[in-house]
This record gives sequence, C-alpha cells and structure tokens, in this order.
Amino acid sequence: MEREHLIKPVLDHYYPTIEYGKGVFLYDDQGKAYLDASSGAVTVSIGHGAQEIIDAMLEQANKVSFVYRSQFTSEPAEKLAKKLSDLAPGHDYWAFFVNSGSEATETAMKVAIQHWQEKGRLGKNRVISRRMSYHGITMGALSMSGHVLRRRRFIPLLEDFPVVVPPYCYRCPLNKTYPECKLACADDLDTAIKRIGAEHIAAFIAEPIIGAAGGAVVPPEGYYKKIKEICERHEILFIADEVMTGIARTGAMFGMEHFDVEPDLMALGKGMSAGYTPMAAALVKDHVMEPILQGSKSIMSGHTYSANPQSAAVSLAVLDYIDKHQLVLAAEEKGSYLLARLRQMAEQIEMIGDVRGIGLLLAMEFVSDRSNKLTFPPGLGVTSRVIERAFQKGLLVYPAAGGVDGAGDAIIVAPPLTITEEEIDLLVSMLEETVREVMQEVTGYEWG
Ligand code: PMP
Repeated sequence: MEREHLIKPVLDHYYPTIEYGKGVFLYDDQGKAYLDASSGAVTVSIGHGAQEIIDAMLEQANKVSFVYRSQFTSEPAEKLAKKLSDLAPGHDYWAFFVNSGSEATETAMKVAIQHWQEKGRLGKNRVISRRMSYHGITMGALSMSGHVLRRRRFIPLLEDFPVVVPPYCYRCPLNKTYPECKLACADDLDTAIKRIGAEHIAAFIAEPIIGAAGGAVVPPEGYYKKIKEICERHEILFIADEVMTGIARTGAMFGMEHFDVEPDLMALGKGMSAGYTPMAAALVKDHVMEPILQGSKSIMSGHTYSANPQSAAVSLAVLDYIDKHQLVLAAEEKGSYLLARLRQMAEQIEMIGDVRGIGLLLAMEFVSDRSNKLTFPPGLGVTSRVIERAFQKGLLVYPAAGGVDGAGDAIIVAPPLTITEEEIDLLVSMLEETVREVMQEVTGYEWG
C-alpha cells in the first residue's frame, strides 16, 4: 500500500472519499450515498452544491480573490459587516472577520479584554465560561472551554479560567428541579464573580444552546435574563458563542433571540458560509467598541485571511440564499416536525432518555435505564456505536460529548435547513433502525 501524507483525525481509520454533494446528500467514489443529517459539523446549513453560491464564488474570483486587510478594504467585506449588523438584535454591531469558530471566540475574548484596558481597568482580563461548553481548539478558546477530552493534553498550557455549572435540566448538576430551583445555575455565575472579584473578570461566554459539549441543551425560561442581569450588575461583558446556533440554525437568525437577550459580543462561524469557504466573525456592539475608538483605535488581533473578499462574497450569497428560500422559517417548521418524529421514536425505544433542541439543532441522549436516567459506562462507547452504525447505513449524525456533570452519550441531529419532509422521514427511519440495532448490541453487555 502506498504511504499516506494527509493527517486525518484518526490515523488508522478508513475515510471514504467524497466525490460530490447535492442537497442533503453526499456521494462517495464507490457510489454510496450519505444523508447528511449533521450538516457536516453543523455547518452546511443550506445543503451541498447550491448553484447560487458557486456563481457568487466565481463572480468574485473574476474580480479579485485576495486583498490584504492592512492595505485595502473590499466591497463584499463592507457589505457583509453591515448585513450582519442589520440582522443582529439591536443592529449596532461591528464585525471582525476571521476564519474559524475558534478564532471568532478568541477574538471576542481579546476584544472584551481590550475594551476594559482602554478604560484603564487592566485587571479585568479573565473570562468565565461553563463546565459543559466548547468554544474552540486554539489555546485561548480552549482555555474558555469545558470540553474535557479536547483540553486534556494541553491543560498545563491553558489559562485556568473559572467555570460555572451549566443549565442542564435533564441532569441538573445541582440536583434541583425547575422552577423550584429558582435558576440556581445562573446564581452560580454571581457566586463565581464574587469569589474572584469582578475587577478581575472581562466577560462571561456561553453557547445559547449547548452544542458539541452536551447536545442541544436548551436552558430553562428566564436563565439568560438572569445571566445578563448578573453580568450588567458586575460590569462584565456577555459573549454569546453563536458559532453553532447562529445564522438560522435554530429557527431564528441568532440563538439568543429565543431568550430575548442581547449579548455584548457574538462569535459566528459554521453556518456563516455554510461550509462553502472558511469564514467566521466576532460581532462587537457599539458600546464595547466605543473606548477602543476613543483610545488606541485598533484591535490587536487579525489574520492574513481576515476579511478575505472571496469568503465574504460567499457568506453574503449564503445570507441571500437563506433569505430567498425563507430558511429561518424552514428551520422552525422542519425542526418541529423532526422533533416530533424523534419524540415518537423515543416512545418506542427504551435507550433514548431525552430528545431536545430548538429548530434544526436537535439531539437525543441515551440511557441504560430510563427510569433513573442511568448513563452507559463510557467504555461501552454507545455514542460511537450509534455514529458508526449510522455511517455504515449512509446516515451522518454528530457526536456530543458531555464528559462532565454526569452527562452521558448523546448525538446531535442537525440536517441542512433545506431538508424536505420526505427526507426527514428517511432520516428518522434510518436512525431508528440504527438505534434499535445498537440497543440490541449493548443489551446484555457485562458492564459490572
Ligand atoms: N464554538 C462552538 C459553539 C462550536 O460548536 C465550535 C465548533 N464545533 C467552535 C466554537 C469552534 O469552531 P471551529 O471548529 O470552526 O474552530
């Protein structure tokens, strides 16, 4: 066998070669079709092979693909920044373009720290996050993340940022029940701030709906209102990590809209260019930019490819596509249909403990005993079994790894927002067959 050169995620694993994609399907070079019920990594929200995006890509390439942001600006980048601000709650955002979700959260972190520096409050340079979270793989983003598996190797090199409990009602980390709990999980932020001192904290970062680190975990009513009140009281900026939830995925343009709370900064990625090109952004509200505009007048960050006109043109075309095909509404409607179908499925299959999510960011969590929500032993690899078996059948779903607060096995189901009801029916029947088979496989397993 010829030696390999490409470093893939697992080096002794076989990865099929995809030849092309169309709509919700990908096709490999053996002719096998895959129903992309994960939109890749919850990214390809408008489906594969959309001609409008390809046309926009070509049109921009025929003008210019690259200009260096320290020398020039470009029409697509200017338009995109304005468009995102027009779409965002409050309509008063500046955009800093980057290339990945990790860079977006890390940029938001740096801007928040710089905001306080410009005001002469040099001690406000730490960020609080939640134990059940993922904000990215670069060192700053990983420092803010609770994703145990992804942190493990680099723990000594990471900033030891504080974390608070997540709003994870299915397995409340505080062993309480909503609404009697009075949102004690939000109060944990208040306690952490008091312990560390607000004078040392720049921001609190949270995913509106927890994605990869928990699986479409939706906080209870009132949670973010309380979080925002705590942040404001202590003069701490609130960063919404909308990398997974942003740009129509949840049936709203931004995840935070469901909770009627305006963050001070937002991180965007994934759905922003729907996978057609790398593109991400930190959105920064006017009041956060103000001291920077009055002060050093420059944000100390940036990448060679920041505000790349080629990617900006693609992202603009994706936003137009979402508008033209009414995909915010589609996410809501198709999401309700898929959620109902998954809940029906859960009634039939004991192993499914919880089905949750908003719009087309949905998840199911698996339990070995539904009555007491007992998790499967991690060594059994139930999530991997489901993912792999589904893959063999030609169905793509996304793993969620809690790893903290007793979180168990879960998968995310997040197909492109363009999916039809017939395709959802196919998805559900393939997933049902998969989960039934895995349940059979693990029943009787000796986990003593
Ligand atoms: N934040 C969230 C909420 C994410 O889901 C992800 C990616 N899974 C990231 C940040 C990091 O994005 P990227 O992989 O593009 O760096």
